[in-house]
Amino acid sequence: MNLVHMSSIKENIQIVRERMTTAERSSNRKPGETELVAVSKFHSTAAVAEAIGAGHREFGENRVQEAAEKFPSLKEKYSDITLHLIGPLQTNKARDAIRLFDVIETIDRPKLAKAVAKEMDRQDRRPKLLVQVNTGEEPQKSGVFPTEADEFIRLCVDELELPIEGLMCIPPAGDEPAMHFALLAEMARRNELNVMSMGMSADFEPAIKLGSTHVRIGTAIFGNRPAR
Ligand SMILES: *Cc1c(COP(=O)(O)O)cnc(C)c1O
Repeated sequence: MNLVHMSSIKENIQIVRERMTTAERSSNRKPGETELVAVSKFHSTAAVAEAIGAGHREFGENRVQEAAEKFPSLKEKYSDITLHLIGPLQTNKARDAIRLFDVIETIDRPKLAKAVAKEMDRQDRRPKLLVQVNTGEEPQKSGVFPTEADEFIRLCVDELELPIEGLMCIPPAGDEPAMHFALLAEMARRNELNVMSMGMSADFEPAIKLGSTHVRIGTAIFGNRPAR
């Protein structure tokens, strides 16, 4: 019997949830209000199914193609799954992304925003959107720079009438993440946006203390990602 292994994803989810609740309490936030996005990229459909079996329904994938291979059949079976796109989106994949995802967290440039607006009209389907901010201004990373974020958000909301609900960031490796979370929180506040997707396996507790509404957790739930 392989009971230990069989229950590990379930146990990991439970442990992460307890840590989230502790972080919420210690920062005077309502316990349970932060949403847990289980990041299943590189992991098998069987691993996702195990999380579903444990009652979990909110998932994140970073590639349209991989999500398209894993999720349509699961979504057919479990209609309450919420699927987030957390990786960069190419304009030519906007059509597939709008069809498959419920939240797209990586809107970061006018060309993409316009393609997404057009595709939403065409499909009459409106996933929620977040603007990704490159808080560390890293040249190799996606996301709008902080200095250009307000103007980009205005373009998305006022001109394109996109359902922008909030902001997302990935702090630079090696930086103190808290200052990036604080910067994102301030940007969300001044743009009157309620959703903040920030915090991963290594830094979700400080993110929750700084107001994160969605943490994106892969390794702490599914273990190390298999090579590919
Ligand atoms: C992979 C990934 C995560 C999850 O990272 P872990 O450290 O495994 O929790 C979160 N956010 C994004 C954007 C990712 O690509």
